[in-house]
Amino acid sequence: MPDAFAPAAEAGIHRLAIPTPFAVGRVNVYLIEDEPLTLVDAGPNSGRSLDALQRGLGELDHAIEDIGLVIVTHQHIDHIGLVDIVATHSGADVAAIDVLVPFIENYSETAAGEDEFAARIMLRHGISGDVVDALRSVSNAFRAWGARADVSRVLRDGDTIELRDRTLEVCFRPGHSPTDTVFYDADRRLLVAADHLIRHISSNPLIARPPGASDDPAERPQSLAIYLESLARTREMEVELVLPGHGDPITGHRALIDERFEFHRGRAEKIRELIAERSRTAYELAQALWGNIAVTQAYLTLSEVLGHTDLLLNAGRVREVEDDGVVRFEAVA
Ligand SMILES: [Zn+2]
Repeated sequence: MPDAFAPAAEAGIHRLAIPTPFAVGRVNVYLIEDEPLTLVDAGPNSGRSLDALQRGLGELDHAIEDIGLVIVTHQHIDHIGLVDIVATHSGADVAAIDVLVPFIENYSETAAGEDEFAARIMLRHGISGDVVDALRSVSNAFRAWGARADVSRVLRDGDTIELRDRTLEVCFRPGHSPTDTVFYDADRRLLVAADHLIRHISSNPLIARPPGASDDPAERPQSLAIYLESLARTREMEVELVLPGHGDPITGHRALIDERFEFHRGRAEKIRELIAERSRTAYELAQALWGNIAVTQAYLTLSEVLGHTDLLLNAGRVREVEDDGVVRFEAVA
């Protein structure tokens, strides 16, 4: 079988598949052989992941000490966990978009704040207190797979990163998380996209609080609506090869993005039908769609449902009715 990453390797970008403890499986870390030697993301903070990173670098005749720049794509812990270890051992610069800086520099506090915000959203949307508590301990247990890191180079949307042999344009694409950033090599028509676009899974726009935003769950961001806007911007780009944060490279990004648009339209319709049958909470909608939901999937599925009720709310097709702090969705005729 031909190596799907061969075209990237020809451009000097090597994929290192780093193990994670998460359902998503391995995370793609990219080594850009240029000056400085650049790593995009670093994998989760575990000995096993660090071994895999060192081994992968070794196979390419490099070592952690040689890395001069680490670029961070977004705030998720399967991407950021080893950034600090790599930067500390190599003295590398760490580059991240401005909105990601407070998150990664104060990782423990912001992660705890996010969990608190998530708990309020879950309670507001019909998930019971014991499930919320159970999920809080799961989330606590996973926290150590992330770690704080100092950012030495703050990026802004539209900035460029100049390496010896290439220029990467910094493009802010929030949605999958509030800090997603993709890096565009216009000369090679190549996009390092991390979790903004993944071939085999639709990138769940998890509800997360943008740094500095209100922690009132009634004012949560509309993650899916934001994500779809970001996808529309990416769709307009001239890209031949997308390097994702998980799974194989993507060609034909417009067709894949159109599939995603179609998928979300269909799911919003399905949810509108369920709401038209009778008013329901987002949690009841998730149960109607997926049956009995594992505790660990409760927030994920809730985010998925709320993303679509947001689209329906924006279109004036459903409304929220709040009773005793819990929201139900009702059809608008
Ligand atoms: Zn992610």
